Amino acid sequence: MTLKVPFLSDAQLESAAQELLRRYAKWKGEPPRPPIPVDAIAEGVLGLTLEMNDLRKKLGKSDVLGATWLDDALVVIDSSLEGNEGRYSFTLGHELGHWQLHRPLREMDKVTFPLFSREPGEKAGPAIVCRDGQRDPAEIQADKFSAFLLMPASDVRAAVKLVTGEPLAIDNFAARKKAGERIAELRDFAAEVSAKGGFTNVSNQAMQIRLEALKLVVDGAQGRLF
Ligand SMILES: [Zn+2]
Repeated sequence: MTLKVPFLSDAQLESAAQELLRRYAKWKGEPPRPPIPVDAIAEGVLGLTLEMNDLRKKLGKSDVLGATWLDDALVVIDSSLEGNEGRYSFTLGHELGHWQLHRPLREMDKVTFPLFSREPGEKAGPAIVCRDGQRDPAEIQADKFSAFLLMPASDVRAAVKLVTGEPLAIDNFAARKKAGERIAELRDFAAEVSAKGGFTNVSNQAMQIRLEALKLVVDGAQGRLF
């Protein structure tokens, strides 16, 4: 089921993520640095309970990554992500996005959430269940929130400064991307930025997307104009 949520711009999503990072800084007494401690943000700042469990089996859906039970303030990450730090953290950041962006809509009676049982046979409660590959607006907002949370712009820019000092120019970038090519230069650049910046809980793929969004990767043909 698709949640009907109001439009939020990227700037609004980024500022919601930054607000949460500021709350962490206040709670902890120091600003968060990569790897962004997303577990501590969930438990310490937001008071959520975190659990890893076989959601796929419990919910009978083969592609579930995470779920949040709103009344229980419970976030469950599917056990298939155990040991995969990048996907685990991104999924948790995504659930925090739902918590911060979409849970308040319920209190305003704007959105009705579907009901799910935590255990087969148990009473069902309002929950957000997130499956791989969902692309409706609420899911896209939660994904973007997670990227903004785990890879703050200032930290990514600082790491790029340490690696090359400037955006990476890739020849025929747009055309190669359009053709679906896996671009080795971009993968290597993302790996270096992650290593230098301490982004140990971010997947290479997620960093590639973030670098591109921040225009820290540019088309080589374009780059040569300057
Ligand atoms: Zn979701």
